[in-house]
Amino acid sequence: MKLRTLEGGEIEVEASAIDALKLRLRGALFAPGEPEYEASRTVWNAMIDRRPALVARCLGNADVVAAVEFARRHGVLLCIKGGGHNIAGLAVADGALLIDLSPMRGVRVDVPARVASAQGGCLLGDVDRETQLHGLAAVLGFVSATGVAGLTLGGGFGYLTRRWGWTTDNVLAMELVTAEGRVVRASESENADLFWGLRGGGGNFGVVTSIDYKLYPVGPEIVGGVVAWPASEAPKVLELYRELATNGPNELTMVALMRPAPPAPWLPKEWHGRPIVAMLACHSGDPAEGERVVASIKKLGQPIGDVLVRRPYAQMQGLLDATQPKGRRYYWKSEYLGGLDDAMLERYRAHAAEIPSPHSAAILFQVGGAIDRLPADHSPVGNRDARFVLNLTSAWERAEDDGANVGWARAAWEDLRRFSTGGNYVNFLTEDESPERVAAALGGNLGRLAEVKAKWDPTNLFRANRNVVPRGG
Ligand SMILES: Cc1cc2nc3c(=O)[nH]c(=O)nc-3n(C[C@H](O)[C@H](O)[C@H](O)COP(=O)(O)OP(=O)(O)OC[C@H]3O[C@@H](n4cnc5c(N)ncnc54)[C@H](O)[C@@H]3O)c2cc1C
Repeated sequence: MKLRTLEGGEIEVEASAIDALKLRLRGALFAPGEPEYEASRTVWNAMIDRRPALVARCLGNADVVAAVEFARRHGVLLCIKGGGHNIAGLAVADGALLIDLSPMRGVRVDVPARVASAQGGCLLGDVDRETQLHGLAAVLGFVSATGVAGLTLGGGFGYLTRRWGWTTDNVLAMELVTAEGRVVRASESENADLFWGLRGGGGNFGVVTSIDYKLYPVGPEIVGGVVAWPASEAPKVLELYRELATNGPNELTMVALMRPAPPAPWLPKEWHGRPIVAMLACHSGDPAEGERVVASIKKLGQPIGDVLVRRPYAQMQGLLDATQPKGRRYYWKSEYLGGLDDAMLERYRAHAAEIPSPHSAAILFQVGGAIDRLPADHSPVGNRDARFVLNLTSAWERAEDDGANVGWARAAWEDLRRFSTGGNYVNFLTEDESPERVAAALGGNLGRLAEVKAKWDPTNLFRANRNVVPRGG
């Protein structure tokens, strides 16, 4: 069988070596043509169509070690799939050996210690489900089918970020299989250099098989949901958004967005497809206080839909899921913003009015709050001056519409990027981004990341990612 080498060439690996790998796995090994192969190689973004040569579907550390050793021995390109949600499709590479962690979705919650250990193939919803059973939550993201590993290794933000920081700020330890095929732990007290690099440096250092998250009391009932108005109300809605973002408590996190109305049951049929402005809000503290804090949102103008109510936190975590189905074509452009000035908001509204697809949106996520309690070099995630994340999210169905939809996101970004802090979120970078954009995402941390990489992965075995070239490599 032919596989891609690390250098990009091809190598013929004997059938006996492939059979030996198959025998070592408790999970399974798939080649193209087998039905399960398609499920493993397919990722969230249908723009990505890559064909690994082999898929090792792993059930535990021993399987991962076997796959890493195989790749090392034969000099074969490796790629790693957590939740498969990366917009750039970094989980899959042509001709590679794909380590598919999708069966590794176990979560163990230590209630007295307030720690959840999540396996490397977990989705956000897996962790929320187990932790909310105990009224606890980890700091995760907004869409429940996203993989915890990719999200955490790149930083991570969601409704709890303003209270407790980036997701990585709340990681206590990680377990991983290194390029040497060793199982090691990384924490403040074990392999601290590696622990630093893992918190923002992506999959550069190994295959992460388990992550320990610090948990906090949240819910189970919170006040959260979404209110929508006609797009003509956007100036007033965005003004309130800015005011609440400036003066509201860290328990409150909001997301403002403009888009054609989705066919959601809480929106009147006659509005489906017409331009709206909406505000998602989640107050993760005491519900009575939450109702007081969000009252001004509910009172603003004449909403066309309002489902901002008391609800389970776990439900809030899945509220956006239906708008982000697997299998559409997606293209994003994104920047961190330090604030929302009038000129920026005026241009934002103008670009939202030009959206060419019923599925696309111009989104402003609120961050800030606790992220700047830690020093800039605490981890490679950095960007602790970010107050908002602008994400221009194009989503559409047909390949023939690629030009119009990619074009919209790019044109809006070209105009709006002048309002950026200069940084951007590494996990929102698309396939076609330049090394300069990756450098902007990782701030001044690339040099130190290269040193950690040189120690833990000197041959750059893990390169299907936002690759950090080992220092001297
Ligand atoms: C619909 C949607 C919503 C999102 N919402 C948020 C959000 O609210 N907040 C946020 O912060 N981000 C969000 N993201 C971005 C998300 O953090 C990234 O897409 C992230 O890469 C997804 O992780 P994954 O495990 O699903 O990715 P994958 O595509 O599986 O992998 C992404 C990268 O991480 C590496 N990787 C994955 N698992 C491992 C592992 N176990 N060990 C080592 N390397 C690994 C892969 O090799 C690859 O390089 C969202 C993305 C989508 C598509």
